[in-house]
Amino acid sequence: QIVATGICHTDEHVLEGNFPNIDFPVILGHEGAGIVESIGEGVTSVKPGDKVIPLCLPQCGECSFCLNPESNYCLKCHLSESQSLLPDKTSRFTCRGKQVHHFMWVSTFAEYTVIPECAVAKIDAAAPLDKVCLLGCGFSTGYGAAINTAQVKPGSTCAVFGVGGVGLSAVMGCKVAGASRIIAVDINSDKFAKAKELGATDCINPRDFKKPIQEVLTEMTGHGVDYSFEAIGHAETMAAALASCNMNTGVCVMIGVAPSGSLISIDPMLLLTGRTWKGSVLGGWKTRDCIPKLVSSYLEKKFNSDLLITHTLPIAKVNEGFELLRAGK
Ligand code: NAD
Ligand code: ZN
Ligand code: ZN
Repeated sequence: QIVATGICHTDEHVLEGNFPNIDFPVILGHEGAGIVESIGEGVTSVKPGDKVIPLCLPQCGECSFCLNPESNYCLKCHLSESQSLLPDKTSRFTCRGKQVHHFMWVSTFAEYTVIPECAVAKIDAAAPLDKVCLLGCGFSTGYGAAINTAQVKPGSTCAVFGVGGVGLSAVMGCKVAGASRIIAVDINSDKFAKAKELGATDCINPRDFKKPIQEVLTEMTGHGVDYSFEAIGHAETMAAALASCNMNTGVCVMIGVAPSGSLISIDPMLLLTGRTWKGSVLGGWKTRDCIPKLVSSYLEKKFNSDLLITHTLPIAKVNEGFELLRAGK
């Protein structure tokens, strides 16, 4: 039973037709939290009544990447194989007698869903589900990109491109890691008050400058930032984020999902001089192992992801939620 769900921009990418391996009609949503209503044969890690977070990135525990302690990309993930049907190749959703597809094996925009065991994690019974649902994707993604993927060092300078749910979580991760300067970059200046509240020291809007934003950031910092994060999903801003970090030791982390088929054109010199360009899926967390620990950290008040919540609506108004997302609210 799904109790609460967030809206992540990836759901919107699917609606725009910008996401691979999707079959329609589909029940979207992948940032949820709920309570186990019943279990199938052979399921041992959860039981009815347990609070859980559905995992849009599974952890099968058996594939070569799951067995590698440095990787969190499970080969059963939607980017490797379609998750439009459950592993037994059935759909458990119908509408007026017609089959409806699953999304990332979780489909959280529903009151009830069916999820494979490797794509669900039991969490602390004290967790408020309407708050920790954000740990199912957006928060964990941005926060982990700073802590796990970039491994931001104390005293460093960071730039976060796009301060929506994911980018704001990256700002929180940079702050927790001890960054001394965190520059938020967004074309919607309305996002800056929240970015500052969460730890941004500077906020800049590329539309306020004539020159490219990478030049502005390089001038602001001397030789570019130590860590840059792209949390938007455009090829141009990915290239700009790369060019914004220090030519020698800078690390750029790509988080945003660019439309399928996108290509990025860059000057190879950007990498030759020593920059590192990385990608990050769900913040680098091994999901079944780490999401429950993040929930415990939330309960211990190590971070306040509640500040990311802007609106709360009943599920019947989910489309209004998408309108708010598109309006930058
Ligand atoms: P969001 O819509 O809440 O935020 C995006 C932000 O980018 C907005 O504040 C918007 O104003 C800003 N923006 C748009 N164009 C810009 C530009 N040209 N320059 C500067 N800022 C610009 O989205 P979100 O839910 O935070 O998701 C962000 C991205 O992260 C999406 O592409 C999403 O698909 C992706 N994502 C990736 C992962 C992963 O595991 N890698 C997980 C979750 C989300
Ligand atoms: Zn997401
Ligand atoms: Zn695996």
